[in-house]
Amino acid sequence: MQACFKEACRGTGDDIWAVCDRKFTKQVSSETKHLKVGFYREYFSAMVRLTDKKMDEVVRSICGADVISLVNKIKGKENVSEFKLAEILKEDIKKVRNTLYRLYGANLVEFTRKKDKKKGWYIYYWTFKQEHIKYLYKKMKLEELDKLKSQVNGETGQQYFICVNNCVRMDFEQAVNLEYRCPECGELAAQEQKEKKVENTAQKIALLKKEIKSLT
Ligand SMILES: [Zn+2]
Repeated sequence: MQACFKEACRGTGDDIWAVCDRKFTKQVSSETKHLKVGFYREYFSAMVRLTDKKMDEVVRSICGADVISLVNKIKGKENVSEFKLAEILKEDIKKVRNTLYRLYGANLVEFTRKKDKKKGWYIYYWTFKQEHIKYLYKKMKLEELDKLKSQVNGETGQQYFICVNNCVRMDFEQAVNLEYRCPECGELAAQEQKEKKVENTAQKIALLKKEIKSLT
């Protein structure tokens, strides 16, 4: 289903949501409706499951892309020895520990330690806090929602003018000062059709809210 929407995005410069919203808004045919329902159903069930891809997205946004290979080795397991991890990843123990401390700082892993009787030092065993990811994912989505909301507030309060050649986007004051002429090419600027944009954002907000609700 997603592939179908991706296909619709090809060459248009739109992201999947823009296409999705367009299909949603137009409601041209029952076929489109069917597509829409199918797409959203798949989308939300994926949300609730919180796929590996989504988990990676959260981890990457918090700790950086370089922790992913280690996370993949401890995901779904319990009490993995840091020496074992270094061995599997073929990395220096110091580097592995450094990564683990970063994950610990972000509250993404926990550990227990046991004393090695022969050597006399402690060995740390690590567990990935999978259930915490859901909370962090929700937090991320709430921030996204806030951003969209303030975007709508900004858009509805302002009127913008766009050059017919798409060079610039000016607010009302700028447009008046320039006598509605584009400072780049000199062509007349037209009033932006903001309704569509606001509608798209509103649609995204509705989806996000639904998604966030499904995560509680
Ligand atoms: Zn222009």
